[in-house]
Amino acid sequence: MPKTCTKFEGDGGNVAVYLTGEGAILVDDKYDRDHDAIAAHIKSITDQPVKYVLSTHYHEDHSGGNGKFLPTAEVISTANARTNIVKRVQSNASANVEPARVVFTDETAVFLGGKEVRAKFFGRGHTNGDAIIYFPALRTIHTGDLMAGSTPLIDYPGGGSVVEWTRTLDAAMKTLDFDRVIPGHGPITNKAGLMAYRNNVEKLRDRAAGLIRAGKSQADVAKVMTAEFN
Ligand SMILES: [Zn+2]
Repeated sequence: MPKTCTKFEGDGGNVAVYLTGEGAILVDDKYDRDHDAIAAHIKSITDQPVKYVLSTHYHEDHSGGNGKFLPTAEVISTANARTNIVKRVQSNASANVEPARVVFTDETAVFLGGKEVRAKFFGRGHTNGDAIIYFPALRTIHTGDLMAGSTPLIDYPGGGSVVEWTRTLDAAMKTLDFDRVIPGHGPITNKAGLMAYRNNVEKLRDRAAGLIRAGKSQADVAKVMTAEFN
């Protein structure tokens, strides 16, 4: 990746760091316990402070570090992601996950040091509040968990939808001009990799639809999904 935008892996979701002459912009901040490692990584590549954290979604492995950044940076998420944190929708999350102070419903952008980062909600998928973060100058997106691992994880309590998921990815791929894809977890890939993932989501969706048409209960459908796609 260009030096201005690096990916920080390890525990939790992938963090993207975008450097500008006036401060760093982060995408996601992992768990609270990962804050020191993230801070050390940033310090090793820039003297600038983190000014913004753009959050892809509310799960603790992506937003758990919000509380550590909020005193000195602005955390921005979709309105639904904030609501899910405030309502403690993720049942296994720590009690101290802090919501963003600034929210958007459709789209927002941050301009810093002559650089631009956009955050856009394209529809439901992994949750009801997944933002895709776009670095236009780098032709790069961070998908959050709209792409993560090899198979989709649908957070139903958090408003996720396997039916909407493919439409959401289709809209993003049609709207944004990009080559490089930073997924929520796992290695950096490209547009073809995202398309392959999208087709896998479609396969899962069609299998679920078939089971529902056959009169299977939601519990049965969930059992088959877990057995066949995990
Ligand atoms: Zn997630």
